[in-house]
Amino acid sequence: MYLYNSATHKKEEFKTRTPGRVEMYTCGPTVYGYAHIGNLRSYITEDVLEKFLRYEGYEVNRVMNITDVGHLASDADTGEDKMLTGARRENKSVMDIAKFYTDAFFADCAKLNIKTPDVVQPATGLIDEFIQVVSGLIGKGYAYEAGGNVYFDTSKLGRYYVFNDHNEEDLAVAVREGVEEDANKRNKNDFVLWFTKSKFEDQALKWDSPWGVGYPGWHIECSCISMKYNGEYLDLHCGGIDNAFPHHTNEIAQSEAYLGHPWCGHWFHVHHLNTNSGKISKSKGTKLTVALLEEKGYDPLAYRFFCLQSHYRKGLVFSWENLDNAAGAYQKLIRRIAALTDTEGAVDEEAAKRLKEKFLTQVGNDLNTSMGITCLYDVLKAPVNDVTKRGLLASFDQVLSLSLLEKAAALREKEAAQAKTAGADGFTVQGGGDPAIDALVLERAAAKKAKNFAEADRIRDELKAQGVEVTDVPGGAVWKRV
Ligand code: AMP
Ligand code: ZN
Repeated sequence: MYLYNSATHKKEEFKTRTPGRVEMYTCGPTVYGYAHIGNLRSYITEDVLEKFLRYEGYEVNRVMNITDVGHLASDADTGEDKMLTGARRENKSVMDIAKFYTDAFFADCAKLNIKTPDVVQPATGLIDEFIQVVSGLIGKGYAYEAGGNVYFDTSKLGRYYVFNDHNEEDLAVAVREGVEEDANKRNKNDFVLWFTKSKFEDQALKWDSPWGVGYPGWHIECSCISMKYNGEYLDLHCGGIDNAFPHHTNEIAQSEAYLGHPWCGHWFHVHHLNTNSGKISKSKGTKLTVALLEEKGYDPLAYRFFCLQSHYRKGLVFSWENLDNAAGAYQKLIRRIAALTDTEGAVDEEAAKRLKEKFLTQVGNDLNTSMGITCLYDVLKAPVNDVTKRGLLASFDQVLSLSLLEKAAALREKEAAQAKTAGADGFTVQGGGDPAIDALVLERAAAKKAKNFAEADRIRDELKAQGVEVTDVPGGAVWKRV
């Protein structure tokens, strides 16, 4: 496939070090609160990327960390550990917070059909490895101790800003708003590998180390976790665009310094989901979560569809109106699929091959998921039998994961149940697929027919009490919940 590489600033043919196998790493969530749907845009996109690579025939080893220590309020090593902020907010221990929000994250992922990576590693589970790499970096002269902390010395690198063509000053940590300069740093971009001292005292989790009792910096976890489970060479590293600097920049610095060779071939960054009023952010306490979508009656997969309609290298604006449009289109698509017949027949292999090649080319062009969705409509419109169509939709859905055939089957079932509950004399009841209500409506009709109007009114009141409104129509009745 062709994929934009943030490290080379161009779209290039994706290549792996070992033919047929992808070593893939994804920056995981910081588990101090619920993931917002912006975070989940990144994970949906990375999920499609992984599935597309598998669809192309690659074997993929996908590794992800869980940040449960060391990610401070500012990415530039200042402020309080986000985990501690969460623990204090909820009056729980840091480990309880980590467990709760890790589970919540994977529950959201399951609702969005995001597959769990092959390896998921919480940072707190690998402290010995971090200490070993930090010691190695000191030994090689790439790191120094100052004021009780261990820092990476960025002046030792030939090239530090890997991803940005912009003015280096704009990116410099010290000049970013709200970030105080740390007097221990020899160079403005040096970053902490191991803390024993920071501005706040009461870090909850600490470990013994050669430099004193403390805790790791945020960036070291991803380098170490990847080296442990992906090996010394990484083919593909993913994250949201905000991770590019300083997080990924620092990951490259420390990994290559430690390993002594180039580390990762391809960098994939997902641009942000924003609202009309700006960036969605976990720390601002915005509550745009999967739970909120569900509360408002949206199918989480309608949100996945919404994300797939856009390109990952463009910011995506979230509004309820935009989501409504996507949810409507998704529902229409499911309805069209539900209308396909179940008849058996021979698959039109020739046409299937052509349509599949188109899907591979289109999605393989820098993960163009909206073209992937267009391919679904192409299948529905194609002059081939429904067996062929169903087969192709199931095939493309291995990548898009919109549960197309399952949703279509569920819709058919629901409509069949709703369609008609017939009484003995052909009287039909249409409603919301609740047999108990259907039965009451039928009883009411029977009472009316027997001219037992008191009973008919009693049943109507009983239905009303359950929030059900009944309207008589020729030959039957229709009910709905109000
Ligand atoms: P965090 O839990 O803050 O470590 O972030 C988890 C992932 O979500 C990272 O890959 C971030 O880059 C990504 N991310 C954060 N905010 C957004 C956003 N508004 N849109 C898309 N991705 C985001
Ligand atoms: Zn990371």
